[in-house]
Amino acid sequence: MSRRYRITALFCGLAILLATAAAQPALPALAQREPPHVIASFSILADIAAQVAGDAATVTSLMPIGANPHSYTPSAQDVARLSDADLVLVVGANYEETLLPVVEEAAGERAVVVSLCVPIRPVPSGAAEPEDEDAADHPDEAPAADSELASRCAEHTRALEAAFGERAQIAGGTILGPLYALSCGDAEPREGDDGHAHEAGACDPHVWTDPTNAGLWALMIRDALSALNPEAAATYAANTDAYLAELVTLDDEIREMIDTIPPERRAIVTNHVTLTYFAERYGLTLAGVVIPGGSTTSEPSVRDVLRLIDTIQTAHIPAIFTDTTASSATAEQIASEAGVYIVPLYTGSLSQPGEGADTYLDYMRYNAAAIADALR
Ligand SMILES: [Zn+2]
Repeated sequence: MSRRYRITALFCGLAILLATAAAQPALPALAQREPPHVIASFSILADIAAQVAGDAATVTSLMPIGANPHSYTPSAQDVARLSDADLVLVVGANYEETLLPVVEEAAGERAVVVSLCVPIRPVPSGAAEPEDEDAADHPDEAPAADSELASRCAEHTRALEAAFGERAQIAGGTILGPLYALSCGDAEPREGDDGHAHEAGACDPHVWTDPTNAGLWALMIRDALSALNPEAAATYAANTDAYLAELVTLDDEIREMIDTIPPERRAIVTNHVTLTYFAERYGLTLAGVVIPGGSTTSEPSVRDVLRLIDTIQTAHIPAIFTDTTASSATAEQIASEAGVYIVPLYTGSLSQPGEGADTYLDYMRYNAAAIADALR
């Protein structure tokens, strides 16, 4: 065979090889190496999921920064995104009131409720609706307990105790139980509820304001990602352990900030119920709330408003903490009437990038510092 002929043959072989490669569909092995795509319902959950995922999954938030998770209505484009995601993460406990049924429809088995192992507290009955205290007895019927889930939650609690030590212990106060053993109802108002999706005694879904609950979220996200992408399970586990250590540091920092408030001034009034878990963990009293129920969708009565003004003046409470994700118009009127300050907190959303609360850790530091500054 001449040299020239050999080269031609070589080119022909190469051309056939290239043609064969081009004709083949995408290789499954390569497709599997694509990191899974995760959608979290809102920005705080998306940040925590991103810490667990590292570079072994991509995480985006369905709701944009500043959206109100209680009333967010998904667009047709959102539904398409939910359908395409490998995993969808939601808080549950009826937090995402209008989104949850859509997630159930669009993502089905690919949706994971991250709060399942979290011990849920009732919406405080406190100043808003004291006559409704008996409602705590019926947070709907408990679904059948899932023993596999119960043992997984026990494992998560042990992991949390290993990270937090004695501080993993939950402070006093009422606990309804872990979310997996509770039904927190849905956005449909119960008969006679006058449109209030959450009554006093219903589940309070704002669990992440206690860093140990953010730790339980991280462990649940770790398990969901590992089931989806077992090859990266060790990465997810290591990222979760590192994040738990950061949560322990955060917890210490918040405790130091709250310690600067004289004990007799550790009472807070908020625009809507957001800080039940924070208050229990750091020894603050929830003196009152502007918007009754656990959501942002109702209005206080004139009687509620007068009672709250009286509470603020009698207890010498210096400020009302408002939301970045809900209207504070009524709170501003009450503050002006009672002669106290308005202090905005980040509640149902992180801040825009670079604005000081663009990760969960910074969001918590920002709010704790604002609370300590206002009450000192
Ligand atoms: Zn809220």
